Amino acid sequence: MKVRAAVLEEFGRPLAVQEVELAEPRAGEALVRLAACGVCHTDLYTASGADPTGYAPCVLGHEGAGVVERVGEGVTLVRPGDHVVTLFAPECGKCVHCRNPRTNRCVSIRDQQGLGFLPDGTTRFSRDGEPLRHFMGTSTFAEYTVMPEIALAKVSSEAPLAGCAPFACGLSTGIGTALYTARVEPGSTCAVFGCGLVGLGAVIGCRLAGAGRIVAIDLAESRLAQARHHGATDTRPAGADTVEWLRSETGGFGADYTFEATGNVAVMRQAVEAAREAWGLATMIGVAGKGELLEIVPRLLITGRRVAGSSFGGVKGRTQVPQLVERWLAGEIDVDALVSARVPLAAVNEAFAAMERQEGIRTVIELP
Ligand SMILES: [Zn+2]
Ligand SMILES: [Zn+2]
Repeated sequence: MKVRAAVLEEFGRPLAVQEVELAEPRAGEALVRLAACGVCHTDLYTASGADPTGYAPCVLGHEGAGVVERVGEGVTLVRPGDHVVTLFAPECGKCVHCRNPRTNRCVSIRDQQGLGFLPDGTTRFSRDGEPLRHFMGTSTFAEYTVMPEIALAKVSSEAPLAGCAPFACGLSTGIGTALYTARVEPGSTCAVFGCGLVGLGAVIGCRLAGAGRIVAIDLAESRLAQARHHGATDTRPAGADTVEWLRSETGGFGADYTFEATGNVAVMRQAVEAAREAWGLATMIGVAGKGELLEIVPRLLITGRRVAGSSFGGVKGRTQVPQLVERWLAGEIDVDALVSARVPLAAVNEAFAAMERQEGIRTVIELP
């Protein structure tokens, strides 16, 4: 079938929205009609050429939500008509990591996915008979995509699909990091550095975990206001004195849990230093630039601070994304406040530009 898709032709160039060919789903795969897709920094990072593992041409997009249209042979996990959130981090349920409750690092299809192929080593997208590679196993800047069934989370059909899209990456990453990676304890003091979608997700996760105090730190007052709306009890403009201020606010000790959601290694260092002596846990969520290192004075660790990190917030996608969507439907998460713009697929390059200007929280592409 012919589908419209946003193709990364060449690094550093605007995406080209065009018609491409999409083949039918094979064994273990499903054809998904996309209804919405968030525009995430990782798409921009790859499009810019900064990602050392990036490749072109490919169909970008990884924060998708849609409806299963058809399934290939042997598919049992989803059926036509199911509402689904796409997962760049699949959950096969069987591998050594899926069977362990401590992690979401499914290893079943990662090698082929990293190269831009579906698990059988081929692509379903093509153009003039030439294969066109997938991106993050998802390729959701398109009207339709084909994905492995283990990479689709079936969610409530009550949930509007434009609001489901942020759960495919940024929002689940933030919430999950607080709930599943750090496992924030009720009554604790948390500090979140950076209040983009991921940081706001961490604020939400800390609130859902019952944190007593949630301090949000960012350069922009507009994002601090968002943080207060989603549950921050205190906000503070980011600066060189942030660690000192946080310590003074916590009896000289620091926060029980800190979260870093900017990707800046100097801020990561602040998050480690602001974690409480004796048991403070600093969790890294932001993605640092190629070759950058995080500096930590070892004495901080000897005296009891710990450092952690996770990808996709440690969320086991097929099991836990539907649970997070239920919490949104129950009124515990305000997704509408996080979706700052809704645009058509043709406006994907404008959405990238808005992200570079740090405008709004999340742009969601809506497909008719
Ligand atoms: Zn993302
Ligand atoms: Zn697995």
